[in-house]
Amino acid sequence: MIDFEKIIGQKKSIKVLKNLIKYDRVGHAFLFSGKEGIGKRLTAIAFSKAVNCFNLSENYEPCNRCSSCLKIEKGIHPDFQLITPLNSVITIEQIRNIKDIIYWQPLVGRKKVFLIDDAHKMTVEASNSLLKILEEPPEFAVLILITDSPEIMLPTIISRCHRISFYPISREEQREILTGMNLSLEKSQLEEIIRFSPGNLGKAIALADEPARLKEKNQYLEWLIETEPEQLIDKFFSSPENEVKDILNSFLDFTELMILWFRDMLFFQLGLSQEMLSFPERIEKIKKFAQYYSQEKVINLLNFLTEIPQEIAKYIKPEILMENFIIQLGD
Ligand SMILES: [Zn+2]
Repeated sequence: MIDFEKIIGQKKSIKVLKNLIKYDRVGHAFLFSGKEGIGKRLTAIAFSKAVNCFNLSENYEPCNRCSSCLKIEKGIHPDFQLITPLNSVITIEQIRNIKDIIYWQPLVGRKKVFLIDDAHKMTVEASNSLLKILEEPPEFAVLILITDSPEIMLPTIISRCHRISFYPISREEQREILTGMNLSLEKSQLEEIIRFSPGNLGKAIALADEPARLKEKNQYLEWLIETEPEQLIDKFFSSPENEVKDILNSFLDFTELMILWFRDMLFFQLGLSQEMLSFPERIEKIKKFAQYYSQEKVINLLNFLTEIPQEIAKYIKPEILMENFIIQLGD
């Protein structure tokens, strides 16, 4: 059962939200922004429960026992709706559905709550339609927009929201939580999981569930470690077909690893402390790469890599992205 207490590493945002409830200052529109997998959605659900709970605790925690809390947990509360992308976009129909019901008084709760997850995936029409709602929301409505990419949202939407920022959780916190979850992991596996998903608890938990993916990530890492920087392009082109196929099949995992690898390179070039590195024990290799590629190049590659998940969501083929990545490497 979700409540504020179970959300780790977001004390500041939660305190703000609790204060809004305490002083009865809950607004009509929120933007929960921050990286993926750090508790934005869970916090939004806890907040939705808290604004409608019949037995709110003295500490403004939802009780998780009243009919309102239970119905929100199950997603069947008549005054609570979670909107998620369909085929990677939030359509105008989905926003129209909100419009159709938002102006009606809540049926059983105090507030009518709408969570829009991945709000940056709204189409232009959907965004404009939502903007109309945000211009004059009814007194009892609360819209919570959740996003890891606020920079691609309409500024006119953002300016109408109370912005709550979520921060990546530390490795220490991640280690503590994962250990407490009794995931039957060996210590070395636990450390690998944290390393491959820094600051992203959601991803770490998913990875703990899929040992095959963890193994794959390790294989990619080994592959990188064995490669000299000047061989990298050749190695991509001369890899046996089945290896290339493997990479394309798990292209997002491969991309994530590349991001960590090139980020380590950038951190090294910037002279940051080794503690910041994902692969500190590979420092010799990182150093070689960091000397081979210019800082500008590394930044360009990182920009390219971090956009890949969005490109994939737009149905751009991994083959094309991979080819572009190799071209950028050699450019
Ligand atoms: Zn309750």
